[in-house]
Amino acid sequence: MKFSQMFMPTTKETPNDATLASHQYLIRGGFITQTGSGLYNFLPLGKIVLDKIRAVVKEEMDNTGANELLMSFVTPLELWEQSGRATAMGPELLKFKDRKGAGFVLSPTNEETVVDIVKNRITSYKDLPINLYHINTKFRDEARPRFGLMRGREFLMKDAYSFHDTHEDLVREFHVMEDAYKKIYERLGLEYRVVAADSGAIGGSGSKEFMILADSGEDTIVVCPDCEYGANIEAATRAKRVVPNWQETTNSPIVQEKVLTEGMKTIEDVSNFLSTSKSQSIKAVMKKAIYEESSEIVVFFVRGNDELEETKACNAVDALELVDASEEEIKEVGLVAGYCGPFGLPENINFVVDEEIKDEVGLVCGANEEDYHFTGTDLSTLKDVKYFDLVAVQEGDKCSSCGGELQYTKGIEAGHIFQLGTKYSEAMDATFLDKNGKKQPFIMGCYGIGVSRLVAAVIEQNHDEKGAIWTKETAPFLVDIIVSNAKKEDELEAGLKIYEDLKSLGVETIIDDRKKERFGFKMSDFELIGFPYAVVVGKKLQDGLVEIIDRKTLEKEEVEVSRVSQILFEKIK
Ligand code: ATP
Ligand code: MG
Repeated sequence: MKFSQMFMPTTKETPNDATLASHQYLIRGGFITQTGSGLYNFLPLGKIVLDKIRAVVKEEMDNTGANELLMSFVTPLELWEQSGRATAMGPELLKFKDRKGAGFVLSPTNEETVVDIVKNRITSYKDLPINLYHINTKFRDEARPRFGLMRGREFLMKDAYSFHDTHEDLVREFHVMEDAYKKIYERLGLEYRVVAADSGAIGGSGSKEFMILADSGEDTIVVCPDCEYGANIEAATRAKRVVPNWQETTNSPIVQEKVLTEGMKTIEDVSNFLSTSKSQSIKAVMKKAIYEESSEIVVFFVRGNDELEETKACNAVDALELVDASEEEIKEVGLVAGYCGPFGLPENINFVVDEEIKDEVGLVCGANEEDYHFTGTDLSTLKDVKYFDLVAVQEGDKCSSCGGELQYTKGIEAGHIFQLGTKYSEAMDATFLDKNGKKQPFIMGCYGIGVSRLVAAVIEQNHDEKGAIWTKETAPFLVDIIVSNAKKEDELEAGLKIYEDLKSLGVETIIDDRKKERFGFKMSDFELIGFPYAVVVGKKLQDGLVEIIDRKTLEKEEVEVSRVSQILFEKIK
């Protein structure tokens, strides 16, 4: 390819909302343009990168025996009503009507479609297992589209769906997919980690996420430095914290007493006043839980020095989402902010207690009355309590597998694999006949990769202050031949000769043959766009020399023009 023929509008201007390097460089490097909130066009250079990543994903999927197909992007709302997700997906699902008034959605994922395809077409266990996938546009009306390709509303995803007659066979395929995903990220040259994950709105259990490690990642992942343990904070667990027991330290009997704590609304104030530690108190977090057709105020109780993990809390009450409760809403249901505790709550208040404080004694908590707290409580006396894991694992907590000290790191979720089970097949009445001639719902797995998000993730992990640095598998071209002054016949001719040589060696090459641009401009385009190597054809050509520049290190090396193609071929292969 020649620069002179290519539409590559690079710019020095950074969009106002572009805080991430990938967002800035993708726009500035002429890879993408924004057309609306969370909507992007892929320009020629961006399309090349996207297709390269897509090709790696396809190749590794095909190697596992999965079948590529292509499902319709627009799907009838009726399918979503069958599965129950027409409402369960919430406002992320974009619905609309056609001229006849029939309801449709823009697919955010395709479980419903694929079940509808397989239903009544596969009828016997003999035709199982099967894994079907496609690489297609998705639409999610994200609450906060941001960070360029990282969180768009329209994006490209690879989604695969497998069908099985037994759970064991699903687990086998799940491991096949995990291995294929690892190969994909390795081939793309990315540093990643596989972590335990929450299953979110897709449903099912036993899910794993593939995290591209980057400081800018939106996800916090909890990792153990001493063993393999890794989990998204939404699903991370820890060994139960050892906390000094109040009874042991004070040696006094457990008697629940109401004490005056005037104006003391924080755990800190109350602990100081009563000379106890934060861990010997109960923290109340009040939230408004949003359901399909209703909402309610829910209180979550965790130990005073713990933090509530919202995804866990949301799962504990089966809500679509949790939002902050306003002062009025709290008052309306009879709760007293700053003095809320699990004993003597107003009737009908839904509450959940963290399982780590199950049956604890001696903890201080609010008395559900302005200015009062209880001391010497005994949680084992509470009736009908829902206990759940509600806490956010903190750095320094102990690993439940090996006892190591857990640490935080940041990651970009680039893939997610789920053992779905029969959630969709049951809801949509998709069955097969098993070995005994008995009707069974299909046992399913589903497996996603954010193909367009990966374009951004590669840059997040590989860039410097000058621009992007593509990895070998993702680079739009491997070599950029910079003809210093393309108006000079000999320079242009020498450049074109190297260009032809490299092409015949199978090296993807672009030549910067623009006559109107100066050398400095071409150099900064090279650095901004991030091709792995440049060859500079300039003044030294008279002595038979050209220069190779390594984009990553920016190191320069003078080589004989006659040998340059072979040297680059060796570096790249
Ligand atoms: P997130 O938690 O980041 O919203 P998700 O859990 O909703 O992701 P999945 O439903 O598992 O995502 O989708 C599969 C993959 O699609 C994700 O691992 C991610 O790489 C990609 N993806 C999801 N949402 C977006 C988006 N808004 N923009 C770009 N890629 C996305
Ligand atoms: Mg999402």
